[in-house]
Amino acid sequence: MYPARFEYVAPTTVDEVLAVLADRGDEAKVLAGGQSLIPMMKLRFAFPELLVDVNHIPGLDAIDDADGHLRVGALVRHNDVVGSDMVSRTNHTMAAAAPWISDPLVRNLGTLCGSVAHADPLGDWASVMLACGADVVARSTSGERVIPMADFITGPFTTTLEPTELVTEVRVPKYTGTGGGTYVKLERKVGDYATVGVATHLDLDGGGTITNAGIALTSVAPNNVKAVEAEQALVGEAPSDALFAEAAELAARAAEPKDDVRGSAEYKRNVVRVFTRRALTTALEHAQG
Ligand SMILES: Cc1cc2nc3c(=O)[nH]c(=O)nc-3n(C[C@H](O)[C@H](O)[C@H](O)COP(=O)(O)OP(=O)(O)OC[C@H]3O[C@@H](n4cnc5c(N)ncnc54)[C@H](O)[C@@H]3O)c2cc1C
Repeated sequence: MYPARFEYVAPTTVDEVLAVLADRGDEAKVLAGGQSLIPMMKLRFAFPELLVDVNHIPGLDAIDDADGHLRVGALVRHNDVVGSDMVSRTNHTMAAAAPWISDPLVRNLGTLCGSVAHADPLGDWASVMLACGADVVARSTSGERVIPMADFITGPFTTTLEPTELVTEVRVPKYTGTGGGTYVKLERKVGDYATVGVATHLDLDGGGTITNAGIALTSVAPNNVKAVEAEQALVGEAPSDALFAEAAELAARAAEPKDDVRGSAEYKRNVVRVFTRRALTTALEHAQG
């Protein structure tokens, strides 16, 4: 199908984008990789009057290491994350997740920030960002807002982002002490969205005690789920199989899966349990070097 008629602008600076969004944000959509927006327009689930293409703005395509954070710009593609030495050295969860996003065509165009802004409950990046305690940085003509990922997504395809705001980057805290994490994903076939995805993140102090824990789930609820009770069970404890089994049980309880073509609710909940335990074990192995 063809999308409904729309106007198109391609600004070359962030300030121009913000001016357009200030003027026409309610009827406009930012176009990044187009890998979610264009299919939705073709299916007539979305019919913005104006597309604001941000692909011609220099400086938004960098992954920087600054102020204790990994900063991922709005035009960093999934495949940029796959190929990033900085990511593979500093964040195991992101490095594990990136190759799981769809297929090479989508990974070449789609962006991490676009995925987070799109807030598809089947999207992998939001879980990674929830587990890692990331912030979303949004700018408008009124200034900059730094929104904790845990407050950013409010429902399926719904966020706290204003129509006048552009996500300019996400900031992912670097490990404090020694850290590790991973992302595990079950999919029916290569390139599919997740049947279940689990992101984990652990920080350990010098004595090996867990000082910070992140667990988030993909495709098992109306939103990506931050498994807060499971995270809290880990903090302040020494890692062990029994502790990880307890956290896995709490994560399984936090899921709200439904029966669908990808599997029964019971099956998916059990995958969450098994994957969480496995992903915490891998996170610990990474943290211990
Ligand atoms: C066949 C196929 C398979 C896929 N499989 C997976 C998968 O396995 N896992 C997965 O996680 N994803 C998957 N995706 C989705 C893909 O990851 C998209 O790239 C991503 O969801 C959206 O990123 P984008 O840059 O393409 O955003 P776009 O499609 O350009 O935009 C999506 C939405 O976000 C908004 N937006 C984008 N960037 C910004 C910004 N900087 N500021 C404000 N708003 C913004 C847009 O206005 C729009 O509403 C798949 C897509 C396809 C087509």
